[in-house]
Amino acid sequence: MAGYDYEKLLDRAWGMLPDKLKSHERFEIPQAVTFVEGQTTIIKNFNEIASMFNMQPSHLMKFLSKELAAPGNIEPNRVIIQRVLRKSVIDAKIKDYAEEFVLCSQCKRPDTKFDEMNNQGIIKCDACGGWRPLRRIK
Ligand SMILES: [Zn+2]
Repeated sequence: MAGYDYEKLLDRAWGMLPDKLKSHERFEIPQAVTFVEGQTTIIKNFNEIASMFNMQPSHLMKFLSKELAAPGNIEPNRVIIQRVLRKSVIDAKIKDYAEEFVLCSQCKRPDTKFDEMNNQGIIKCDACGGWRPLRRIK
């Protein structure tokens, strides 16, 4: 019940925001189009996902290989991951990536970019000015 009330409260707060602030709010996190070939998994729309995020494919790949514990090769129109993986597993990691590197943690919009502050990498939001420290993918 408490959860429901909270949702309702959010809806109400949402209803009071000016329309301009709402414009990008419903950023949809893209889903991977995948298939398994032998012992590998292929993501057919990898480059599209990276460009929807406005990110370098290599950065997204680094994150995915680390998270999925498998190396991947970027090809012109797809990515090959050296492991058999379910689409739902890949989609979950893409969502994690979006939350960590693309969406602003304050306004949830995707209008962010990487920046630096006192030699520390940060992710900064163009929409609301919010920022947070950026984790380096090792
Ligand atoms: Zn923001």
